Amino acid sequence: METRRGIAVSPGVAIGPARIVESQGAQIARKFVMPDEAPREIARFDKALTASQQEIHELAEGLRTRLDQQVSVSDIFQVHLGILEDPKLRHQITNLITHRLFTAEFAVQEILRRYITSLQEAGDSYLLQRVRDFEDIGQRLLRNLQGETHQQLARAPGPVVIVAHDLTPSQTAGFDKEKVLGIATEAGGRTSHTAILARALGIPAVVGAAGLINSVVDGDMLIVDGSQGAVVITPDEATRQRYQARGRTFEVIEERTAAEFCNLPAVTLDGRAVIIEANIEFPNEVATVLNNGASGVGLYRTEFLYHTAENPPDEEAHFQAYMEAIRALKDHPMTIRILDLGADKFPSGFPERNPFLGCRSMRLLRLQPTVFRNQIRAILRASAMGKLRFMFPMIANLAELREARKVVTEVMEEFDAAGAVYDKKIQVGIMIEVPSAAMTADLLAEESDFFSIGTNDLVQYTLAVDRDNERVAHLYSPVDPAVLRLIQRTVQAGQKAGIRVSMCGEMAGDIMHTILLVGMGFESLSMAPSVIPDVKKLIRSIRYEGAKKIADHALSLKTAKEVEQYLSDETRKVVPELVQERQPEG
Ligand code: PEP
Ligand code: MG
Repeated sequence: METRRGIAVSPGVAIGPARIVESQGAQIARKFVMPDEAPREIARFDKALTASQQEIHELAEGLRTRLDQQVSVSDIFQVHLGILEDPKLRHQITNLITHRLFTAEFAVQEILRRYITSLQEAGDSYLLQRVRDFEDIGQRLLRNLQGETHQQLARAPGPVVIVAHDLTPSQTAGFDKEKVLGIATEAGGRTSHTAILARALGIPAVVGAAGLINSVVDGDMLIVDGSQGAVVITPDEATRQRYQARGRTFEVIEERTAAEFCNLPAVTLDGRAVIIEANIEFPNEVATVLNNGASGVGLYRTEFLYHTAENPPDEEAHFQAYMEAIRALKDHPMTIRILDLGADKFPSGFPERNPFLGCRSMRLLRLQPTVFRNQIRAILRASAMGKLRFMFPMIANLAELREARKVVTEVMEEFDAAGAVYDKKIQVGIMIEVPSAAMTADLLAEESDFFSIGTNDLVQYTLAVDRDNERVAHLYSPVDPAVLRLIQRTVQAGQKAGIRVSMCGEMAGDIMHTILLVGMGFESLSMAPSVIPDVKKLIRSIRYEGAKKIADHALSLKTAKEVEQYLSDETRKVVPELVQERQPEG
């Protein structure tokens, strides 16, 4: 039995056999085979090639059936099939295996990399779009070579605990809760998108557990404690029973809190109301959002449309997704976040030395005006059918905001000229997630209808700490005095301008921060649906006047550790059972 410590990112306890998943997109090491092993490598490659072609045929067939033959399936898939069936590609890869004695994996990576580089160097926007096709094909071939496909996982005989060095948001989003009991990874931080998705899916997860892969063998019994951040490998019977009991207690408390609080308003004992909304990645989460007592969607991360569609979503795909959510929301409002592509979330198509500081979000859309306009058009069309507002991510200064708003005005003028119906008063807000935006919140407030603070990014950009990097996770704190001052500044600027200031970063759903945020003056918070009952319970147990004093004191402290300790003590006084659940054993 061995215990590895990591970062608790999605609460609950999972117990089951390990299933090791190769990290998609991870760099393949340059490895060689012996000359007599080359034919075996070629055979492996051929098998993966056939499997990849087969997968695309199956996907095409499935889509054709689902879409009632309305879409020209050949259009969608012919590019991928064309590349995979090109004898030149096979020849180049097998050549590298035969003459350079590379492993099949490395040869695939190498040849695909050469194609991608030459497309990027051409600088043509059509060719740049083809980069995604080549990236997709490379990943598919590698997955098949490494014997780990989504399909295989879906067909896995029993429920498993996924173990990986790292998982992409796209891999995590594809997990089925029935088959995936828990997740444990070596990489990642509390606000990695993999962690956010695990929480959304309700799968217990621990990230940042160093050395995990070398300690686990496929099939080993594992315990993932997503509340405490522990992974126990091959536990003895007593440990297993102890964790089973912990898991049951967690579920009972969660169910009880949900039943008691989800339908009650979040109002403090002295009458201060806080609007609680939910964050979603997929429209089909709306049912859970309403069941858990949210009064709307405060953040819809639309970039996940890139996960569900084989091709980049067009205006119609956006519109259909919004309509699905609007129908399910039954008149509750929804805040659509404009595509935040790039960085860790779905490739931008550009080589990035430093992706989080590179061509991400609005910077990317500036170079892809049609993609941006299509989304605005879809939002405006849908705004005629439901209560929508939308916001731009990653705005760093007023010039960027003006540029983005200009496009919106132009699209509205097109709608007006065509006599199209839309909500002419639709609210257009921005996310405050870059320090420069927080510093100039007063200027931005004059030209925004609302603010939503994205602490996941605001923390990483303020403290220069990568949100995905487990090695610096100890430095990543949303209550660092620098971050708190930026949040305070933003709230005050918003209040002065009379616009709504909400928060949709993970900080908003962490009960350790609820008293602070209420005390700082937030009247609206958006969070993962699963944490809503806990947050409501806490808000209903405190006084606004008391929370203000606690916030003032927290803002006077000098280090993140002091603030964390202070808030943990204050929270424990109010909801000891919820705090206890999160404490490490022993
Ligand atoms: C944030 O940065 O806080 C946020 C909500 O956006 P995302 O996590 O999608 O970057
Ligand atoms: Mg963000």
